Amino acid sequence: MMRQYELVERVQKYKPDANEALLNKAYVYAMQKHGQQKRASGDPYISHPLEVAAILTDMHLDESTIAVALLHDTIEDTTATRAEIDELFGEDIGRLVEGLTKLKRLDLVTKKAKQAENLRKLLLAISDDVRVLLVKLADRLHNMRTLEHVNPEKRARISEETMDIYAPLAGRMGMQDLRDELEDLSFRYLNPEAYETVTKRLSELSARNDGLITKIEDELRDLLVANGLVDAAVKGRQKKPYSVFRKMQSKSLSFEQLSDVYGFRIVVGDIPACYRALGIVHTRWRVVPGRFKDYISTPKQNDYRSIHTTIVGPSRQRIELQIRTTRMHEIAEYGIAAHALYKDGESGEGGELLSKGSNAYSWLRHTIEALSEGDNPEEFLEHTKLELFQDQVFCFTPKGKLIALPRGATPIDFAYAVHTNIGDTTVGCKINGRIMPLVTRLNNGDEVEIIRSGVQVPPAAWEEIVVTGKARAAIRRATRMAIRKQYAGLGYRILERTFERAGKVFSREGLKPVLHRLGQKDVEDAIASVGRGELSSLDVMRAVFPDYKDERVTVKPSTDEGWFNVRSVSGMMFRIPGQSAEARDVEPEGQGGAPLPIRGLSGSTQVRFARSGAVPGDRIVGIMEEGAGITIYPIQAPALQRFDDQPERWIDVRWDLDDANKSRFTARIVINALNEPGTLATVAQTIAGLDINIHTLDMGRVATDFSEIGLEVEVWDLRQLNQLLTQLKELDSISTVKRVYD
Ligand code: MN
Repeated sequence: MMRQYELVERVQKYKPDANEALLNKAYVYAMQKHGQQKRASGDPYISHPLEVAAILTDMHLDESTIAVALLHDTIEDTTATRAEIDELFGEDIGRLVEGLTKLKRLDLVTKKAKQAENLRKLLLAISDDVRVLLVKLADRLHNMRTLEHVNPEKRARISEETMDIYAPLAGRMGMQDLRDELEDLSFRYLNPEAYETVTKRLSELSARNDGLITKIEDELRDLLVANGLVDAAVKGRQKKPYSVFRKMQSKSLSFEQLSDVYGFRIVVGDIPACYRALGIVHTRWRVVPGRFKDYISTPKQNDYRSIHTTIVGPSRQRIELQIRTTRMHEIAEYGIAAHALYKDGESGEGGELLSKGSNAYSWLRHTIEALSEGDNPEEFLEHTKLELFQDQVFCFTPKGKLIALPRGATPIDFAYAVHTNIGDTTVGCKINGRIMPLVTRLNNGDEVEIIRSGVQVPPAAWEEIVVTGKARAAIRRATRMAIRKQYAGLGYRILERTFERAGKVFSREGLKPVLHRLGQKDVEDAIASVGRGELSSLDVMRAVFPDYKDERVTVKPSTDEGWFNVRSVSGMMFRIPGQSAEARDVEPEGQGGAPLPIRGLSGSTQVRFARSGAVPGDRIVGIMEEGAGITIYPIQAPALQRFDDQPERWIDVRWDLDDANKSRFTARIVINALNEPGTLATVAQTIAGLDINIHTLDMGRVATDFSEIGLEVEVWDLRQLNQLLTQLKELDSISTVKRVYD
């Protein structure tokens, strides 16, 4: 265990003017507070904050951060309080320790499905102060290093969380070594067999290639020195188990097929030297195509800069090369922490290195914004390996909000996950900036922009497309509401008119006290019931005004057979193609006894209309009846089906009207109307207004507030009939109008 003076010495080595008193005070306080507490390994608890502090001294962090590391578990695990720490160490350190306490509590509630949410919380927490994150990462690293002492369940959870969140975060912050170690430790617990295999193969390989790394190092260095780069440092290493495993996985390669197990790094003084080193190496050895990347001219988002290339190098060994300057190397190794090494302008004090306005701070702000605002979500998600959540996809709103959805989810699910109102008004979507169908399955990292309309009822068919319960329930509800609204509108109109006729005024307020008597839950339900015909407007009237007397007279449904009788029509002519008109000029008799002057049929032929009638303009056919008579049907008449298998009885006929010979023809229509006296008058007026005769009329009540009016009208032709249908449909009190053919 590190002694108090050892810690101070470590800090003073890179920061001679460090505040020694602060370090001493934090060391003693942590020691006292943790007292006799033990870790799972049996070690005194204080060894943990000390190790965390030691990790941070390796990154050359300032004494406040080291003090925070020493104190990081005191509020959560001991009798220490924020107030006490504020008093002893100042508010700044108190705030940081509390930040770590919050992060620790977050860990305790972490569950798989919650991690995305935690990730966001974590980012929000660190955006407050990066030192919280640096201490957290060091804390996590030490916990991972000692993970063998905790129970397997906890081990798995912590490893997974490390792999999902902390390792990628360390990578994003440019701390490559930290990332590598976190990944290797997690890998070891998450996939012990693979870890075992890869590690075994790697050690076999290094035994077989004993001395190879040194040999290549020497050869590379000699070549560079011989070409004038006398200060070039060359360092080789075998790759880490996890990075080897990842490469095997992503390229579907076996260990034997994997060629780049060795990586070499050339560190030189300045950027021109980097390109010179590159030239020297490429001149001497063969380059593997497609592997060259210049991150010096185009740095990575986390500020990483290096030239990458792969060559078939000394000993015909395929090796990966990184070429960089010393400064780039420090940033690659320590990331954000490296920025603390270099003071910004005049601000000399370490404690101010991450203060607002410093380069390090603004670099960090930028990184955090990129992370939390979804500036480049694809890249971030790629690195965070969220595909570990096999059953989930993570998408972003245009503002960078992370939305977690089940796999297979559509933009409709996404819209409902954001807000029910957004779901209800969705009409389209853009995925990663492109208009896409709403049935598209979303992928990890998709940025989804929902296109909305002002008012819209979600199509009921969406219920079959969506996969989330929330979306399905909302669609059902919205569909139900829309239907209810339609009925409520109709119901309101009915009630208004009923009350008006009685000289009263209908109001929702007046309905409230009588809801119970009507057996209704609420006012809108009651009104919708009237619209659906389940509740009569008169019952509502009587409930609201108990002494009201209904003076209406119900028109009984007619039993008159005449409704269906074929009417005689005078003055019409049919022509049967292919027969001479002169030869067959007769006057057949209509059914009612009135003469039917028809040309073109034999003397004995009787012609009549089917009971639904037919009007000029209708497509018609004649059917030969048993007694040689002919019945004329409109082609739409369902009755024709009876003759489908008797083609011999079908006769082609067509209208052949003389312009001067004005006759009216019969058609039947059925109107569904509000049950009120004015309706009939309006209907009659409309018919008369078009110079159409009403032949018969039949009116019956089909529901409390609706009547069906059957009409037989006499019109000149189809055009006039259609005109009538259109005008009737436009009437306020009529809900449907249709012509009938049976
Ligand atoms: Mn800890």
